[in-house]
Amino acid sequence: MAETFDYIVIGGGVMGASIAYHLSQQKAGRVLLLERQAICSGTTARSGAIVRQHYSNDFSIRMAKESLHIFQHFDEVIGGDCGFTTTGLLVVSDETGEETLPANVALQQAQGVNTALIAPSDIAEVAPEYSSDGVTLACYEADAGVADPTATTYCFAQRAQDHGATIYEQQAVVRILTQNGRVVGVETEQETLHAPVVVLAANVWSAALAQPLGIALPLTATRHPMLALRRPGGRQGIHAVGFDVRYGIYLRPDLGGVTLVGATDNILTASDPDQYRQELTEEERHFFHQRGAACMPELSRAVPRGGWAGIYDDTPDYHPILGALPGYEGLFCAAGFSGHGFKLSPIIGRWMAQLLTTGQTPEDMRPFAYERFAHGQEIRPRYSSSGVLG
Ligand SMILES: Cc1cc2nc3c(=O)[nH]c(=O)nc-3n(C[C@H](O)[C@H](O)[C@H](O)COP(=O)(O)OP(=O)(O)OC[C@H]3O[C@@H](n4cnc5c(N)ncnc54)[C@H](O)[C@@H]3O)c2cc1C
Repeated sequence: MAETFDYIVIGGGVMGASIAYHLSQQKAGRVLLLERQAICSGTTARSGAIVRQHYSNDFSIRMAKESLHIFQHFDEVIGGDCGFTTTGLLVVSDETGEETLPANVALQQAQGVNTALIAPSDIAEVAPEYSSDGVTLACYEADAGVADPTATTYCFAQRAQDHGATIYEQQAVVRILTQNGRVVGVETEQETLHAPVVVLAANVWSAALAQPLGIALPLTATRHPMLALRRPGGRQGIHAVGFDVRYGIYLRPDLGGVTLVGATDNILTASDPDQYRQELTEEERHFFHQRGAACMPELSRAVPRGGWAGIYDDTPDYHPILGALPGYEGLFCAAGFSGHGFKLSPIIGRWMAQLLTTGQTPEDMRPFAYERFAHGQEIRPRYSSSGVLG
Protein backbone atom coordinates (compact mmCIF):
# COMPACT_ATOMS: atom_id res chain seq x y z
CA MET A 1 0.00 0.00 0.00
CA ALA A 2 1.24 3.52 -0.80
CA GLU A 3 2.83 5.38 2.11
CA THR A 4 0.95 8.39 3.46
CA PHE A 5 2.40 11.61 4.86
CA ASP A 6 0.99 14.93 6.04
CA TYR A 7 3.52 16.99 4.07
CA ILE A 8 5.69 16.16 1.07
CA VAL A 9 8.48 18.64 0.30
CA ILE A 10 10.06 18.22 -3.15
CA GLY A 11 13.75 19.19 -3.39
CA GLY A 12 16.59 18.49 -0.97
CA GLY A 13 18.44 21.78 -1.35
CA VAL A 14 18.75 24.30 1.47
CA MET A 15 15.13 25.45 1.03
CA GLY A 16 13.51 22.03 1.09
CA ALA A 17 15.69 20.95 4.00
CA SER A 18 14.87 24.11 5.98
CA ILE A 19 11.13 23.70 5.35
CA ALA A 20 11.25 20.01 6.35
CA TYR A 21 13.19 20.92 9.50
CA HIS A 22 10.80 23.66 10.56
CA LEU A 23 7.73 21.46 9.95
CA SER A 24 9.12 18.50 11.87
CA GLN A 25 10.52 20.66 14.66
CA GLN A 26 6.95 21.94 15.22
CA LYS A 27 5.66 18.35 15.32
CA ALA A 28 3.36 19.28 12.47
CA GLY A 29 2.85 15.67 11.38
CA ARG A 30 4.52 13.14 9.10
CA VAL A 31 7.01 15.04 6.91
CA LEU A 32 8.70 13.59 3.81
CA LEU A 33 11.57 15.32 1.98
CA LEU A 34 12.10 13.97 -1.54
CA GLU A 35 15.34 14.52 -3.47
CA ARG A 36 16.01 13.19 -6.95
CA GLN A 37 19.78 12.87 -6.42
CA ALA A 38 21.51 13.43 -3.05
CA ILE A 39 20.83 16.07 -0.39
CA CYS A 40 22.46 19.32 -1.51
CA SER A 41 23.35 18.33 -5.05
CA GLY A 42 21.73 21.30 -6.84
CA THR A 43 22.32 25.05 -6.79
CA THR A 44 22.99 25.18 -3.05
CA ALA A 45 26.12 23.06 -3.44
CA ARG A 46 27.52 25.68 -5.83
CA SER A 47 26.51 28.73 -3.81
CA GLY A 48 28.72 31.61 -2.71
CA ALA A 49 26.70 31.50 0.54
CA ILE A 50 27.26 35.16 1.36
CA VAL A 51 24.99 36.25 4.21
CA ARG A 52 24.32 40.01 4.10
CA GLN A 53 21.50 42.44 4.74
CA HIS A 54 22.32 44.83 1.91
CA TYR A 55 18.95 44.93 0.09
CA SER A 56 16.90 47.75 -1.33
CA ASN A 57 13.43 47.03 0.06
CA ASP A 58 12.42 46.93 3.69
CA PHE A 59 10.83 43.45 3.76
CA SER A 60 13.92 41.79 2.21
CA ILE A 61 16.12 43.61 4.72
CA ARG A 62 14.00 42.32 7.60
CA MET A 63 14.14 38.78 6.18
CA ALA A 64 17.91 38.94 5.78
CA LYS A 65 18.28 40.38 9.28
CA GLU A 66 16.28 37.60 10.92
CA SER A 67 18.13 34.97 8.92
CA LEU A 68 21.52 36.45 9.81
CA HIS A 69 20.59 36.20 13.48
CA ILE A 70 19.92 32.48 13.01
CA PHE A 71 23.22 31.96 11.16
CA GLN A 72 25.02 33.72 14.00
CA HIS A 73 23.40 31.38 16.57
CA PHE A 74 22.95 28.35 14.36
CA ASP A 75 24.10 25.70 16.81
CA GLU A 76 21.76 26.95 19.54
CA VAL A 77 18.74 27.58 17.30
CA ILE A 78 18.95 24.74 14.74
CA GLY A 79 21.82 22.55 15.95
CA GLY A 80 25.13 21.87 14.24
CA ASP A 81 27.92 23.80 12.57
CA CYS A 82 26.84 25.71 9.45
CA GLY A 83 30.30 27.25 9.05
CA PHE A 84 29.12 30.83 9.49
CA THR A 85 32.04 33.27 9.78
CA THR A 86 31.67 37.01 10.20
CA THR A 87 33.68 38.80 7.51
CA GLY A 88 32.02 42.19 7.04
CA LEU A 89 30.77 43.42 3.66
CA LEU A 90 32.21 46.30 1.65
CA VAL A 91 30.07 47.74 -1.17
CA VAL A 92 31.80 50.23 -3.45
CA SER A 93 30.62 52.36 -6.33
CA ASP A 94 31.45 55.43 -8.36
CA GLU A 95 29.12 58.39 -8.97
CA THR A 96 26.66 56.10 -10.83
CA GLY A 97 25.66 54.80 -7.39
CA GLU A 98 24.89 58.26 -6.00
CA GLU A 99 21.16 57.65 -5.86
CA THR A 100 21.11 53.99 -4.91
CA LEU A 101 23.85 53.37 -2.37
CA PRO A 102 23.07 56.12 0.18
CA ALA A 103 19.33 55.44 -0.12
CA ASN A 104 19.87 51.70 0.46
CA VAL A 105 22.10 52.32 3.46
CA ALA A 106 19.53 54.71 4.98
CA LEU A 107 16.80 52.10 4.50
CA GLN A 108 18.94 49.37 6.06
CA GLN A 109 19.82 51.61 9.01
CA ALA A 110 16.13 52.34 9.53
CA GLN A 111 15.62 48.57 9.87
CA GLY A 112 18.36 48.38 12.50
CA VAL A 113 21.14 47.00 10.28
CA ASN A 114 24.65 47.73 11.47
CA THR A 115 25.82 49.45 8.26
CA ALA A 116 27.20 52.87 7.37
CA LEU A 117 28.46 54.93 4.48
CA ILE A 118 32.23 55.28 4.73
CA ALA A 119 34.72 57.54 3.01
CA PRO A 120 36.87 55.82 0.35
CA SER A 121 39.88 56.64 2.54
CA ASP A 122 38.35 54.45 5.31
CA ILE A 123 38.43 51.32 3.14
CA ALA A 124 42.04 50.72 4.18
CA GLU A 125 40.87 50.42 7.76
CA VAL A 126 37.83 48.13 7.43
CA ALA A 127 38.86 46.05 4.40
CA PRO A 128 42.57 46.63 3.78
CA GLU A 129 42.84 44.12 0.91
CA TYR A 130 40.61 46.31 -1.28
CA SER A 131 41.67 49.25 -3.45
CA SER A 132 39.93 52.61 -3.15
CA ASP A 133 41.07 53.76 -6.60
CA GLY A 134 38.18 55.35 -8.47
CA VAL A 135 35.78 54.67 -5.59
CA THR A 136 33.62 57.66 -4.72
CA LEU A 137 30.99 55.89 -2.61
CA ALA A 138 31.29 53.01 -0.17
CA CYS A 139 29.45 51.39 2.69
CA TYR A 140 30.46 48.77 5.23
CA GLU A 141 28.15 46.23 6.88
CA ALA A 142 30.13 44.82 9.79
CA ASP A 143 27.99 41.78 10.66
CA ALA A 144 27.83 40.18 7.20
CA GLY A 145 29.58 36.88 6.65
CA VAL A 146 29.80 33.64 4.75
CA ALA A 147 28.62 30.12 5.57
CA ASP A 148 29.19 26.61 4.27
CA PRO A 149 26.15 25.89 2.08
CA THR A 150 26.51 22.11 2.09
CA ALA A 151 27.01 21.95 5.87
CA THR A 152 24.01 24.23 6.39
CA THR A 153 21.77 22.02 4.27
CA TYR A 154 22.93 18.84 5.99
CA CYS A 155 22.33 20.45 9.40
CA PHE A 156 18.72 21.24 8.43
CA ALA A 157 18.23 17.74 6.96
CA GLN A 158 19.76 15.92 9.91
CA ARG A 159 17.83 17.95 12.46
CA ALA A 160 14.64 17.29 10.45
CA GLN A 161 15.34 13.56 10.72
CA ASP A 162 16.08 13.95 14.45
CA HIS A 163 12.57 15.41 14.78
CA GLY A 164 11.02 12.50 12.89
CA ALA A 165 11.06 13.58 9.23
CA THR A 166 11.65 10.98 6.52
CA ILE A 167 14.13 11.70 3.73
CA TYR A 168 14.22 9.76 0.48
CA GLU A 169 17.15 10.42 -1.86
CA GLN A 170 17.42 9.15 -5.43
CA GLN A 171 13.63 9.59 -5.78
CA ALA A 172 12.68 12.00 -8.52
CA VAL A 173 9.10 13.23 -8.51
CA VAL A 174 7.63 12.86 -11.97
CA ARG A 175 4.10 14.09 -11.28
CA ILE A 176 2.05 15.85 -8.64
CA LEU A 177 -1.22 13.99 -8.12
CA THR A 178 -4.51 15.85 -7.76
CA GLN A 179 -8.17 14.93 -7.32
CA ASN A 180 -11.22 17.21 -7.38
CA GLY A 181 -9.15 20.39 -7.16
CA ARG A 182 -6.84 19.33 -4.41
CA VAL A 183 -3.41 17.76 -4.09
CA VAL A 184 -3.34 14.11 -3.01
CA GLY A 185 0.34 13.19 -3.37
CA VAL A 186 3.12 12.61 -5.85
CA GLU A 187 4.30 9.94 -8.22
CA THR A 188 8.03 9.33 -8.16
CA GLU A 189 10.10 7.22 -10.54
CA GLN A 190 9.67 4.35 -8.03
CA GLU A 191 6.30 4.70 -6.30
CA THR A 192 3.20 6.67 -5.40
CA LEU A 193 3.23 8.63 -2.15
CA HIS A 194 0.17 10.27 -0.61
CA ALA A 195 -0.11 13.63 1.18
CA PRO A 196 -2.70 16.41 1.26
CA VAL A 197 0.07 19.04 1.10
CA VAL A 198 2.91 19.22 -1.43
CA VAL A 199 5.59 21.93 -1.40
CA LEU A 200 7.56 22.66 -4.57
CA ALA A 201 11.07 23.56 -3.40
CA ALA A 202 12.86 22.17 -6.44
CA ASN A 203 14.48 25.38 -7.65
CA VAL A 204 14.06 25.90 -11.41
CA TRP A 205 12.92 22.27 -11.81
CA SER A 206 9.70 23.24 -9.98
CA ALA A 207 8.35 24.71 -13.24
CA ALA A 208 8.21 21.34 -15.03
CA LEU A 209 6.23 19.83 -12.13
CA ALA A 210 3.75 22.74 -11.99
CA GLN A 211 3.24 22.97 -15.74
CA PRO A 212 1.01 19.83 -16.18
CA LEU A 213 -1.33 21.39 -13.58
CA GLY A 214 -1.74 24.44 -15.81
CA ILE A 215 0.48 26.62 -13.62
CA ALA A 216 3.22 28.51 -15.47
CA LEU A 217 5.88 29.35 -12.90
CA PRO A 218 7.94 32.18 -14.45
CA LEU A 219 11.35 30.63 -13.77
CA THR A 220 14.35 30.95 -16.10
CA ALA A 221 17.51 28.95 -15.52
CA THR A 222 20.63 31.09 -15.97
CA ARG A 223 24.25 29.97 -15.65
CA HIS A 224 26.53 31.86 -13.22
CA PRO A 225 30.27 31.15 -13.08
CA MET A 226 32.62 31.84 -10.18
CA LEU A 227 36.46 31.83 -10.38
CA ALA A 228 38.60 30.54 -7.48
CA LEU A 229 41.91 32.41 -7.03
CA ARG A 230 44.66 31.47 -4.54
CA ARG A 231 46.03 34.72 -3.19
CA PRO A 232 49.84 35.04 -3.09
CA GLY A 233 51.81 34.63 0.14
CA GLY A 234 51.87 32.23 3.05
CA ARG A 235 48.92 30.98 5.04
CA GLN A 236 46.03 33.36 4.70
CA GLY A 237 43.10 34.43 6.82
CA ILE A 238 39.80 35.68 5.51
CA HIS A 239 38.92 39.10 4.13
CA ALA A 240 35.69 41.07 3.90
CA VAL A 241 33.16 40.15 1.23
CA GLY A 242 33.19 42.81 -1.48
CA PHE A 243 30.57 43.98 -3.99
CA ASP A 244 31.82 46.34 -6.68
CA VAL A 245 28.84 47.94 -8.36
CA ARG A 246 31.09 49.55 -11.02
CA TYR A 247 32.36 46.23 -12.31
CA GLY A 248 29.32 44.12 -11.43
CA ILE A 249 31.32 41.60 -9.42
CA TYR A 250 31.56 40.16 -5.92
CA LEU A 251 34.55 38.76 -4.02
CA ARG A 252 34.10 36.15 -1.31
CA PRO A 253 36.82 34.66 0.89
CA ASP A 254 37.11 30.89 1.06
CA LEU A 255 39.32 28.55 3.02
CA GLY A 256 43.00 28.09 2.14
CA GLY A 257 43.72 31.63 0.99
CA VAL A 258 41.19 31.41 -1.83
CA THR A 259 39.04 34.28 -3.08
CA LEU A 260 35.97 33.45 -5.17
CA VAL A 261 35.04 36.05 -7.78
CA GLY A 262 31.59 36.05 -9.42
CA ALA A 263 29.19 38.40 -11.18
CA THR A 264 26.40 40.41 -9.57
CA ASP A 265 25.02 41.63 -12.89
CA ASN A 266 21.98 39.95 -14.40
CA ILE A 267 22.70 37.28 -16.99
CA LEU A 268 19.84 37.17 -19.41
CA THR A 269 20.69 34.05 -21.42
CA ALA A 270 18.67 30.98 -20.50
CA SER A 271 20.55 27.73 -19.92
CA ASP A 272 19.50 24.10 -19.72
CA PRO A 273 19.82 23.40 -15.95
CA ASP A 274 20.57 19.72 -16.63
CA GLN A 275 23.13 20.24 -19.38
CA TYR A 276 25.09 23.40 -18.89
CA ARG A 277 28.82 24.02 -18.90
CA GLN A 278 30.00 23.63 -15.29
CA GLU A 279 33.59 24.79 -15.97
CA LEU A 280 34.63 28.36 -16.78
CA THR A 281 35.63 29.40 -20.29
CA GLU A 282 39.03 31.01 -20.85
CA GLU A 283 37.26 34.32 -21.44
CA GLU A 284 35.39 34.07 -18.11
CA ARG A 285 38.61 33.22 -16.25
CA HIS A 286 40.27 36.28 -17.74
CA PHE A 287 37.28 38.54 -17.01
CA PHE A 288 36.99 37.60 -13.32
CA HIS A 289 40.73 37.61 -12.75
CA GLN A 290 41.15 41.06 -14.27
CA ARG A 291 38.13 42.62 -12.56
CA GLY A 292 38.93 40.93 -9.27
CA ALA A 293 42.46 42.37 -9.38
CA ALA A 294 41.07 45.85 -10.06
CA CYS A 295 39.17 45.58 -6.75
CA MET A 296 41.79 43.67 -4.76
CA PRO A 297 45.27 44.38 -6.17
CA GLU A 298 46.96 41.27 -4.78
CA LEU A 299 44.73 39.16 -6.99
CA SER A 300 46.82 40.25 -9.99
CA ARG A 301 49.46 37.81 -8.62
CA ALA A 302 46.94 35.13 -7.62
CA VAL A 303 46.81 31.72 -9.26
CA PRO A 304 43.52 30.40 -10.69
CA ARG A 305 42.44 27.30 -8.82
CA GLY A 306 39.51 26.41 -11.05
CA GLY A 307 35.99 27.46 -10.30
CA TRP A 308 32.51 26.34 -11.24
CA ALA A 309 29.20 27.53 -12.57
CA GLY A 310 25.82 27.11 -10.90
CA ILE A 311 22.23 27.72 -11.92
CA TYR A 312 20.00 30.59 -10.77
CA ASP A 313 16.21 30.21 -10.93
CA ASP A 314 15.47 33.76 -12.05
CA THR A 315 11.96 35.21 -11.82
CA PRO A 316 11.03 38.37 -13.78
CA ASP A 317 11.71 40.55 -10.70
CA TYR A 318 14.53 38.41 -9.25
CA HIS A 319 12.59 37.65 -6.10
CA PRO A 320 11.14 34.28 -5.07
CA ILE A 321 7.64 32.87 -5.36
CA LEU A 322 6.47 31.94 -1.86
CA GLY A 323 3.13 30.56 -0.73
CA ALA A 324 0.08 28.82 -2.14
CA LEU A 325 -0.30 28.22 -5.87
CA PRO A 326 -3.72 28.76 -7.45
CA GLY A 327 -6.15 26.08 -8.60
CA TYR A 328 -5.35 23.29 -6.16
CA GLU A 329 -5.79 23.18 -2.43
CA GLY A 330 -2.64 21.91 -0.73
CA LEU A 331 -0.14 23.05 -3.38
CA PHE A 332 2.64 25.40 -2.26
CA CYS A 333 5.83 26.86 -3.73
CA ALA A 334 9.18 28.12 -2.44
CA ALA A 335 11.26 28.64 -5.58
CA GLY A 336 12.67 31.37 -7.80
CA PHE A 337 15.39 32.61 -5.45
CA SER A 338 17.26 34.17 -8.38
CA GLY A 339 20.77 33.77 -7.04
CA HIS A 340 20.33 35.23 -3.56
CA GLY A 341 18.32 32.66 -1.65
CA PHE A 342 20.88 30.90 0.50
CA LYS A 343 21.02 33.61 3.17
CA LEU A 344 17.21 33.61 3.40
CA SER A 345 16.83 29.86 3.94
CA PRO A 346 16.32 29.94 7.74
CA ILE A 347 13.47 32.43 7.58
CA ILE A 348 11.93 30.82 4.48
CA GLY A 349 11.70 27.50 6.31
CA ARG A 350 10.12 29.15 9.34
CA TRP A 351 7.62 31.14 7.25
CA MET A 352 6.60 28.22 5.06
CA ALA A 353 6.06 26.00 8.11
CA GLN A 354 3.94 28.75 9.69
CA LEU A 355 1.82 29.05 6.56
CA LEU A 356 1.43 25.28 6.17
CA THR A 357 0.49 24.63 9.78
CA THR A 358 -1.69 27.67 10.53
CA GLY A 359 -2.86 28.88 7.11
CA GLN A 360 -1.54 32.34 8.04
CA THR A 361 0.86 34.08 5.63
CA PRO A 362 3.45 36.11 7.56
CA GLU A 363 3.12 39.81 6.72
CA ASP A 364 6.57 40.16 5.09
CA MET A 365 5.93 37.09 2.94
CA ARG A 366 2.93 38.63 1.18
CA PRO A 367 4.90 40.58 -1.48
CA PHE A 368 6.28 37.26 -2.78
CA ALA A 369 2.92 35.80 -3.86
CA TYR A 370 2.77 34.07 -7.27
CA GLU A 371 -0.14 36.34 -8.25
CA ARG A 372 2.03 39.49 -8.17
CA PHE A 373 3.18 38.93 -11.76
CA ALA A 374 -0.40 38.90 -13.09
CA HIS A 375 -1.41 41.89 -10.95
CA GLY A 376 1.47 44.20 -11.94
CA GLN A 377 2.89 44.04 -8.41
CA GLU A 378 6.40 42.93 -9.24
CA ILE A 379 9.06 43.89 -6.70
CA ARG A 380 11.29 46.66 -8.02
CA PRO A 381 14.92 46.47 -6.90
CA ARG A 382 16.93 49.72 -6.87
CA TYR A 383 19.93 48.09 -8.51
CA SER A 384 18.30 47.62 -11.91
CA SER A 385 21.32 45.87 -13.43
CA SER A 386 21.62 43.45 -10.53
CA GLY A 387 18.68 41.36 -9.37
CA VAL A 388 20.98 39.53 -6.98
CA LEU A 389 21.56 42.72 -5.01
CA GLY A 390 17.81 43.01 -4.58
C1 LIG B 1 27.27 30.62 -8.25
C2 LIG B 1 26.20 30.93 -7.23
C3 LIG B 1 26.47 31.79 -6.19
C4 LIG B 1 25.49 32.08 -5.24
N1 LIG B 1 25.81 32.90 -4.20
C5 LIG B 1 24.89 33.17 -3.25
C6 LIG B 1 25.22 33.97 -2.13
O1 LIG B 1 26.36 34.41 -2.02
N2 LIG B 1 24.27 34.20 -1.20
C7 LIG B 1 23.00 33.73 -1.31
O2 LIG B 1 22.17 34.03 -0.45
N3 LIG B 1 22.64 32.96 -2.37
C8 LIG B 1 23.55 32.65 -3.34
N4 LIG B 1 23.23 31.88 -4.40
C9 LIG B 1 21.85 31.42 -4.53
C10 LIG B 1 21.50 30.29 -3.61
O3 LIG B 1 22.55 29.35 -3.60
C11 LIG B 1 20.18 29.65 -4.04
O4 LIG B 1 19.15 30.63 -4.09
C12 LIG B 1 19.74 28.52 -3.11
O5 LIG B 1 20.80 27.62 -2.86
C13 LIG B 1 18.57 27.77 -3.73
O6 LIG B 1 18.27 26.68 -2.91
P1 LIG B 1 17.12 25.66 -3.35
O7 LIG B 1 16.97 24.69 -2.25
O8 LIG B 1 15.93 26.44 -3.79
O9 LIG B 1 17.69 24.97 -4.69
P2 LIG B 1 18.64 23.68 -4.89
O10 LIG B 1 19.79 23.69 -4.02
O11 LIG B 1 18.89 23.59 -6.37
O12 LIG B 1 17.71 22.48 -4.46
C14 LIG B 1 16.65 21.99 -5.26
C15 LIG B 1 16.76 20.49 -5.24
O13 LIG B 1 15.63 19.94 -5.91
C16 LIG B 1 16.04 18.72 -6.49
N5 LIG B 1 15.04 18.33 -7.50
C17 LIG B 1 14.87 18.89 -8.72
N6 LIG B 1 13.86 18.27 -9.37
C18 LIG B 1 13.41 17.31 -8.54
C19 LIG B 1 12.38 16.33 -8.66
N7 LIG B 1 11.64 16.22 -9.77
N8 LIG B 1 12.17 15.47 -7.62
C20 LIG B 1 12.94 15.55 -6.47
N9 LIG B 1 13.93 16.48 -6.32
C21 LIG B 1 14.15 17.33 -7.35
C22 LIG B 1 17.41 19.05 -7.06
O14 LIG B 1 18.18 17.88 -7.30
C23 LIG B 1 17.98 19.95 -5.98
O15 LIG B 1 18.80 19.23 -5.08
C24 LIG B 1 24.20 31.53 -5.36
C25 LIG B 1 23.92 30.65 -6.41
C26 LIG B 1 24.90 30.34 -7.33
C27 LIG B 1 24.60 29.38 -8.44
